[in-house]
Amino acid sequence: MALSSTVHVSDFIRAAVREDLATGRFTYVRTRFPPEPNGYLHIGHAKAMAIDFEIAREFGGTCNLRFDDTNPTKEEQEYVDAIIEDVRWLGYQWDGLYFASDYFEQLYEFAVKLIKKGKAYVCDLSPEELREYRGTLTQPGRESPWRNRSVEENLDLFARMRAGEFPEGSRTLRAKIDMASGNLNLRDPVMYRIIRTPHHRTGTRWCIYPTYDFAHGQCDSIEGVTHSLCSLEYEDHRPLYEWFLRELEIFSPRQIEFARLNLSYTVLSKRKLLRLVQEGHVRGWDDPRMPTLRGLRRRGYTPSAIRDFCARIGVAKANSIVDIAMLEHSLRDELNKTAPRVMAVLRPLRVVIENYPEGQTEWLEAINNPEDPSAGTRLVPFSRELYIEQDDFMENPPPKFYRLSPGREVRLRYGYFIRCNEVVKNAQGQVVALRCTYDPETRGGSAPDGRKAKATIHWVSAAHALPIEARLYDHLFTRPDPDEAEDFLSVLNPHSLEVVNAFIEPSVAGSPVGKHYQFERLGYFVVDPDSTPERLVFNRSVTLKDEWAKIAKQG
Ligand code: ATP
Ligand code: MG
Repeated sequence: MALSSTVHVSDFIRAAVREDLATGRFTYVRTRFPPEPNGYLHIGHAKAMAIDFEIAREFGGTCNLRFDDTNPTKEEQEYVDAIIEDVRWLGYQWDGLYFASDYFEQLYEFAVKLIKKGKAYVCDLSPEELREYRGTLTQPGRESPWRNRSVEENLDLFARMRAGEFPEGSRTLRAKIDMASGNLNLRDPVMYRIIRTPHHRTGTRWCIYPTYDFAHGQCDSIEGVTHSLCSLEYEDHRPLYEWFLRELEIFSPRQIEFARLNLSYTVLSKRKLLRLVQEGHVRGWDDPRMPTLRGLRRRGYTPSAIRDFCARIGVAKANSIVDIAMLEHSLRDELNKTAPRVMAVLRPLRVVIENYPEGQTEWLEAINNPEDPSAGTRLVPFSRELYIEQDDFMENPPPKFYRLSPGREVRLRYGYFIRCNEVVKNAQGQVVALRCTYDPETRGGSAPDGRKAKATIHWVSAAHALPIEARLYDHLFTRPDPDEAEDFLSVLNPHSLEVVNAFIEPSVAGSPVGKHYQFERLGYFVVDPDSTPERLVFNRSVTLKDEWAKIAKQG
């Protein structure tokens, strides 16, 4: 896969749309993005949106946002509101905003039409019996004893189902198709079931609800959708989608399926994500470890990075798992160009520069973003006591360790060369501070006598540093394919969050929530909403190590 990207390719969906316009099957293009409001949107939905919205735009067409709200037992207004906000946040603007529940009356009329044609019947089998009568992939189904009710009886019973005369689960309306079909979806599928739970929009007006299969294609048709683009699991439903439209003799959109996005080290099913939230494995839908759009936003993902990722993965027909490193690459790529650099120390080790005057502060000029000269410079304070990263010091260094150790010199970024003369330990023998000296001739980072420092490390001035909380993340699961585990919760990564008390240079004081920085040598970080005026909280969005560039080069 090429790393340079984003000019989109011609995939099989775009080819099909182009063909439909050329042959005159359709004279315009209209798509829809149809979330069910039973959870928050995740990165898989971003892929679907990229396809729905962008194809419509490319062909000068329109795209509706339509809520597939046909099951009141699982749906809530909270999810509707969140989905609207997340679609906007991702940068997509819909043409019409609709709800399947807007069409309940019309869908009811459609059902009546099928009854009158002898193509639908009221069935009294219980849910268990329905399952049993349906048969399996190797065994044909059995016809319901209620299959041959008269049109009059069916019309009467269906009206009484609507009127609330029957208990939940006692009756369904089914399409009369073929109980011997090799496609289980065509074995007299249920069109309506009785559900007594109030609906978040229609309240108690209805007690019968259309199934996904009966609602989806008819909603598409009512809206004049030309291309109903959905994920692969609906491929087997397409013959049914087409059967309803044909029997109803209404406008017939074309359904085209694409592969679902699967991402390594995470799960993309609302049901599983809901369990993570409900059982307290994460802090909420917007936990920065979640693959939800809210989680990704809080983690520091930008809408443009997510859209770039969707463009890079493209549209495939076969299911596969995309490496999460590719998503990280898209963010890193963007933040490299846009995020100001600052110095922060995550695991501080105190350094005292014994030949530096007490009480003196120098303000050293630092470059805000080497990738963007217009970002300018800032001043960072330097003084006698500093913090450096514990990892940048070793008392007994192995051969290839070039950073600080006793008797060695190292360059401080934007500052001076310092030499470590002595190690200060506590009673447990741990190194708690370093006694160092600096060479005043090396300000700006080079020595007049031409001697070199083998490494440059970051630092902050102890007297000026701001204490911050930094939240460091790892994958949510220990396996790249948690869906394949017997129980996905058993492969949760117990170390997916590490919280450290860190120090940062004072220039970041007062940064607003959502502000991005590169902490030099440590990664890209974003200000978290948990921040207070006294103490900023940062999430590490992504480290600086680009696993994906490595993988792509090898591939
Ligand atoms: P989930 O299994 O997570 O509940 P869903 O398919 O039930 O997902 P919907 O809200 O019904 O979720 O999906 C809205 C649209 O987004 C559908 O067209 C669906 O095909 C698409 N979609 C959902 N998940 C993915 C995914 N992982 N990759 C690509 N498209 C997806
Ligand atoms: Mg669904």
